[in-house]
Order: sequence, then structure tokens, then C-alpha cells
Amino acid sequence: MNKANVNAILAPNFKFEDMGIGGLDKEFSTIFRRAFASRIFPPGMVANMGISHVKGMLLYGPPGTGKTLIARQIGKMLNARPPKVINGPEVLNKYVGQSEENIRKLFADAEKEYKEKGDDSGLHIIIFDELDAVCKQRGSGAGGGTGVGDSVVNQLLSKLDGVDQLNNILLIGMTNRMDMIDDALLRPGRLEVHVEISLPDEAGRLGIFKIHTAKMRENGLLAEDVSLEELASLTKNFSGAEINGLVKAAASQAFSRHTEVGQLAAVKQDVASMKVTRGDFMRSLEDVQAAYGVSEAELE
Ligand code: ATP
Repeated sequence: MNKANVNAILAPNFKFEDMGIGGLDKEFSTIFRRAFASRIFPPGMVANMGISHVKGMLLYGPPGTGKTLIARQIGKMLNARPPKVINGPEVLNKYVGQSEENIRKLFADAEKEYKEKGDDSGLHIIIFDELDAVCKQRGSGAGGGTGVGDSVVNQLLSKLDGVDQLNNILLIGMTNRMDMIDDALLRPGRLEVHVEISLPDEAGRLGIFKIHTAKMRENGLLAEDVSLEELASLTKNFSGAEINGLVKAAASQAFSRHTEVGQLAAVKQDVASMKVTRGDFMRSLEDVQAAYGVSEAELE
């Protein structure tokens, strides 16, 4: 584990927004304390306590709220290796034995290092997106009755707490459908830490707008008439991903305002003065409303 990065998280001036995550301070702290804190200490310390590290966690909530982002960012701060990411439907394969092979490959690096270094091995984070796609098949006979889901789940369980168990992994399952996840996977010793990641409130949305307009603001490309507070108040029920999409759409509006066919000379002159305005944001918001059929009352 990279000590320097851990120290940055523990330092008194640590700011969540510097990690590019808005509105999830409480969730981030919970995840860090419950799933990572024990890994900061020397391996012997945990053994002396008579416990083992948390090896599995489930993040659940609506799409686009930052589940993958938070897992990746914590991983980045604690571990030099980028996490491995796989999603449920991708793992499942109609060819006999292929799904199991996909899982085996996912754990291969962690297994190799654990064999060589035991508890001194670095932490391997595995992000399993859309976990429900695998779990819903367990015991249900779904998926053409192949039982592939069952054997994938059993294989995951054996890595977490079976005879093949590894102490150097953290499996982070993600789902929009917590109710679909097999109870057997959620027991202590398995995906034992459950954290809900919900839609951001107004303060959270403001934080997310700040993050996604940071570059524009730094480069003087956000017009003075734009109020991020106003945008946060107008985007109730937006996820972080949708806020990111809105900022990109507003920037595209600014580009298109400056791009008339046959006006190359004007474009060249205008680039330096091009700013994203309140009007660009409002037009993008209208487009979102039109696309999703959201009423103005819902947005307010
Ligand atoms: P899904 O359930 O669909 O996999 P997710 O919850 O994992 O979604 P992410 O993939 O983490 O969502 O989010 C997509 C993108 O949206 C991020 O890369 C980021 O740009 C933006 N985003 C989402 N939530 C936040 C947030 N809380 N702060 C900043 N950006 C965010």
C-alpha cells in the first residue's frame, strides 16, 4: 500500500472535491473506514486482533451516481495498480466453462502475488459492475437453465471465504438492484460492507458542478453570468453523470454558437473570447427536458 497517498487522505487539509468526487463525503468516509482502514496497518496488527480484512463490499444505488468513480479513486489513492473492472453481463458467456475462465483470469494476478508474498502482497481491487446480472440467475434456473450464474457466484465466494481465499483482494460489487443480490453473497466475510450511493442533494450537485467546470473556470471560459448555485437548484434528481453531461452539452452549445459554416476567419478570431454562458446552460437544460419529457416543476 502506498503510504504517501494514505497520508494525503488522513491529512487535516484533505478535500474530497480534489479527488473529483462531489457530494459523497459521508459515503467516502464510511467506505474508507470500513473497508480500507485495517489495510493501512502492518499485516501482523490485524492478525493480532484475531480478525481479517474486509474482502468484499457492495455499493448500490441509481445509475450514474459515482459508484465506479468512488471505487476507482479510493483504489488510486491506496494502490498503485488500477483496479480491474468487469461487468456482470460481460462475464456470463454461453460457452461451457468460459464464464468460469473469465472469473479465473480476473483473480489470476492477485493469486500469483499472494502465492509469492502472502500477506505482504499489495491490494488488488476488483470492481464487479452490474453484479445483479450474475446473481439473479443463481438457483433460478434462468439463463437457459445453464446454472452459469450459480457457478460464477460460487467461484466468487470461494475466493472471498472458501478454501482458495485470498487476503490481498477487495471485491467491490455494484448494482442498481440491491434486491436482486443473492443473500449468500452479502454475509459477513463476503460482500459484507453495504453502502448506498444515492442521487446528490443540492449541495452535492453544486460540488459536482464545481468539479466538472473546474477546467473552464481555470481557463476563464465560464461566463460571469453563470451561477453554479442556480444550476444546482435547477437540477433536482440529476445524477452526477447527468450533471457532467449537462456541462458538456453547454460547452457544445458555445462551440456551435461560434461555428457558422463558411465563417472560418470569424472562428479563428473568436476562439480566445469564447465563453460558456448562462444561455448555453439553459438551452442544454431545455434539451434535457425535451429528451426525457421532464416537466419544469420536476426540475425545480
Ligand atoms: P452505473 O451504476 O451506471 O455503473 P455509477 O454509479 O458507477 O453508474 P459512475 O460511472 O461512477 O456512475 O459515473 C459516471 C460519471 O459521472 C463519472 O465518471 C463522473 O464523470 C460523473 N459523476 C458521477 N457521480 C459523480 C460525483 N458524485 N462527483 C463527480 N462526478 C460524478
